[in-house]
Amino acid sequence: MRYIKTRFAPSPTGLIHLGNARTALFNRFFGEVFGVRIEDTDQSRSRLEFVEALLEDLTWLGLEWEFGPTVAIPNEYFQSQRIAIYARYYSRLEENGLAYPCFCTAEELALTRKVQLSQGLPPKYSGKCAHLGPNEIAQKLAQGLKPALRFRVPTGQTVAFEDLIRGPQRFATDTIGDFIIRRADGTPSFFFCNAIDDALMGITHVLRGEDHLANTPRQLLILQALDLPAPRYGHISLILGEDGAPLSKRNGSVSIKELREKGYLPQAVVNFLARLGHSYAEEKILSIPELTTNFRLEKVHLAPARFDPKQLDFWQTLAVRTVSDEDLWDWLGKAIRALIPPAAQDQFLTLVRSNCTFPNQAKIWAEILFCDSYPITEAAQKVLVQTPPDFLRLALEAAYLHPENYSGFITALRVHSGRRGKELFEPLRAALTGRLDGPELGQIYALLGPKRVSRRLAEPITDSC
Ligand code: GLU
Repeated sequence: MRYIKTRFAPSPTGLIHLGNARTALFNRFFGEVFGVRIEDTDQSRSRLEFVEALLEDLTWLGLEWEFGPTVAIPNEYFQSQRIAIYARYYSRLEENGLAYPCFCTAEELALTRKVQLSQGLPPKYSGKCAHLGPNEIAQKLAQGLKPALRFRVPTGQTVAFEDLIRGPQRFATDTIGDFIIRRADGTPSFFFCNAIDDALMGITHVLRGEDHLANTPRQLLILQALDLPAPRYGHISLILGEDGAPLSKRNGSVSIKELREKGYLPQAVVNFLARLGHSYAEEKILSIPELTTNFRLEKVHLAPARFDPKQLDFWQTLAVRTVSDEDLWDWLGKAIRALIPPAAQDQFLTLVRSNCTFPNQAKIWAEILFCDSYPITEAAQKVLVQTPPDFLRLALEAAYLHPENYSGFITALRVHSGRRGKELFEPLRAALTGRLDGPELGQIYALLGPKRVSRRLAEPITDSC
């Protein structure tokens, strides 16, 4: 039996953003076996700290992989460690005349490109080094020139494949110039090692960004020339920013690390990304196994998805409501947790679920409920200044009579003060919490406890701390 085997193959040249994270998720959802491969052949831009960061991000999102690095220690899943493997395949291509050394300099190539563009032609390698004889090559090598290795693209053919998402694709080889598979500094090019590794690692399906679509015919040609199995490719439409341009830092793309630091829950980010270009019938937080079960290639949208921060916050609110108590407690962070007395933990979490979207909001409520100094809003100050002391005295008496019973307290106060509705609740909220909005007063009354309630009614603070 052949499993669907997928992989996420990031280049560790920066932090992972929404687009890469979505690619990783779609591959995880689709693959029965899923892995991570680090494409770090560009040594000048790849950094081990980014490998660490991306593994941390994937783990935080809740993704698990069956093969790949577990810690950021280079091993067989780092392309930089596989150079000897690629060397074998270069030799095979060269022996069969399917690859040749190219001595063209960057300046020469740039010039040809310029000329072609000025003539309205698509840029393509001129073929200058395609037919150098063995003597010419030996001479250039003897001069110390370092050649790149180019793949010889067959002429007059069509590369056709069925894209898993975009359907039938056809590319004429005559539009593809011979391309570099090993740079002059000896490092393999993306086209080459990416294709070789997919074949050697038995990857059956590759889901990746639409920006790689034009690379696919080149990669299929390499695999065909080496008689290696090709995966099926599916190209996912890019994510666009709110301005309709491809998502980038400039128009709102954020890294997964930034989202984590802002207080987004992984369940929110995963559920948001899972629906960015894929439909799920249910509008509720689904676990990774549930998202996996319901993932279908037919449901991947052809039209590009738009990044809408409001949607992300929608999923965040839903996640805060539904994650386990344990996850929510963790999410609050050490500093907030330290403010909450053990006996109040459960009730406080209930309050957070329906009133907060981010930990900094929970922090405000922890301070209001469990600290003696907390912020007072201007609006609350105004209400308190206008509240007759008599009302607060009646409230204090009612609280004294009904210390553990909010409805007894509020009924007594209503009867004795003759106030109701806003007139009753506004000054009460202002005195008890220093603000006019917030969770149900019953929850606040219980969490503050009789001592704090009495103290705040006896001497309401009217200055902000
Ligand atoms: N390293 C490539 C990238 O990050 C991988 C592309 C692919 O998935 O094949 O874009």
